[in-house]
Amino acid sequence: MSDYTMTIGGRAVAAPRTFGVINPATGEVAEQAPDCSREQLDEAMAAARDALPGWRSDEDARRKALHAAADLMFARSEEIGRVLTLEQGKPLQDATMEVVGAGVWLKYFADLEMPREVIQDDDTARVEVVRRPIGVVAAITPWNYPLLLGVWKLAPALLAGNTMVLKPSPYTPLSSLRLGEALREVLPPGVLNVVSGGDDLGAWMTGHEIPRKISFTGSVATGKRVAASAAPDLKRVTLELGGNDPAILLDDVDPEAIAGKLFGAAFQNNGQVCSAIKRVYVPEALYGDVVDALAAKAASAKVGDGMTEGVQYGPVNNRPQFERVGELVADALAGGARAAAGGRPIDGPGYFFEPTILADVADGARIVDEEQFGPALPVVAYRDLDEAVARANGTHFGLSGSVWSADADRASEVAGRLECGTAWVNTHLALAPHQPFGGFKWSGVGVENGPWGLYGFTELQVIHRSKL
Ligand code: NAD
Repeated sequence: MSDYTMTIGGRAVAAPRTFGVINPATGEVAEQAPDCSREQLDEAMAAARDALPGWRSDEDARRKALHAAADLMFARSEEIGRVLTLEQGKPLQDATMEVVGAGVWLKYFADLEMPREVIQDDDTARVEVVRRPIGVVAAITPWNYPLLLGVWKLAPALLAGNTMVLKPSPYTPLSSLRLGEALREVLPPGVLNVVSGGDDLGAWMTGHEIPRKISFTGSVATGKRVAASAAPDLKRVTLELGGNDPAILLDDVDPEAIAGKLFGAAFQNNGQVCSAIKRVYVPEALYGDVVDALAAKAASAKVGDGMTEGVQYGPVNNRPQFERVGELVADALAGGARAAAGGRPIDGPGYFFEPTILADVADGARIVDEEQFGPALPVVAYRDLDEAVARANGTHFGLSGSVWSADADRASEVAGRLECGTAWVNTHLALAPHQPFGGFKWSGVGVENGPWGLYGFTELQVIHRSKL
């Protein structure tokens, strides 16, 4: 039995079976989640399809519903935040802010204008370009920000007049199930269906005949499988995938002054952020000072159960990821790197790992070249700036990056040479609803957020009215 229900056609639905959801702070199963059957997925897809004609026909009703959904997120932020901390591990304050963030995104899209452009109006014709919904959207999300990333999809998709079947990660299904339960109050039946299950359920969704669009956030490897599965049916695809974001420090930075911001952007959500800083490039002359300043931040970070007041960083979300972080750190240490802070798992139950700063490490080490997605940051020395930029770009990833300098103009010039979707100057991880977010190269296809994110849930239609 599960206390959490799927949402299919506006109804609370239990599944024939359940699966355990682990609290990463204890490593123990804390709750059961419904394991959606194939027949139930068919029902969810059919419900979404049947809800389309009514939903797409009334833009005012859609905007009102999204506002009401936002208000529900604000009102229930702490209640849903607790569920999020339980399954994800992040501190309760961060979890609550994630739910509030979901409300902020819903409000932004509820008010975002849907353009209708007249591109010709003369004696011969009036030609308008309008945006139409695509149809049923299959949305698939990862375990790091399950609630917010689900809302990044559903808010623009629903505003554009699409309907949706949403599937969260099997590691963090509970907060999205609660989202579905809450939104039953404000959305017509079938507009948003939430199902939970394993990775197979995701594959069933991408191969299903009903959805016309897949919106996926997750790893590069799964993203490629999703693209392949969508191709035979020519489904539209948006992919938000992994990153290995570089931060390049120029030779005029003050290490003490920027260490807090750098550390914050590398270790937010315990480093489990697609666009967290994942490698830092530092001029040789500043190397020791930067390593020391970052190590001091790591040593004073408070790690613990996210439910405990004052904790800044929770556990790694799941055992495979916990083991992967440990493996990448051990590999770097075996290769001659030095742990300036941390370097080991924390004894005891749960998936806790010491906030780790790795020095004397270079490109070619796995932790520099691969996405670690956890609380361990390699700091790499460079001699020549052009070479640092080349190394930053010398990867299949291209999500985001940052350049740090006392001279913002100089840093902006360097930032413009980074091959990535967002290039920050003297900051990192500054995301906002109006700012398009997506990756170059293997980090993604398409963008989310802003009007550009909304357009990804639309087809262009030309209405050409002859006057001859
Ligand atoms: P993952 O790829 O393992 O899983 C993501 C989702 O895909 C889960 O819901 C999973 O059940 C589902 N899935 C698994 N196999 C599938 C298949 N064959 N077909 C369809 N769906 C399938 O990723 P994860 O480990 O949950 O998340 C971490 C990754 O996500 C990291 O690489 C991170 O960088 C990336 N990420 C990217 C962004 C972004 O916006 N670019 C944001 C957050 C996380």
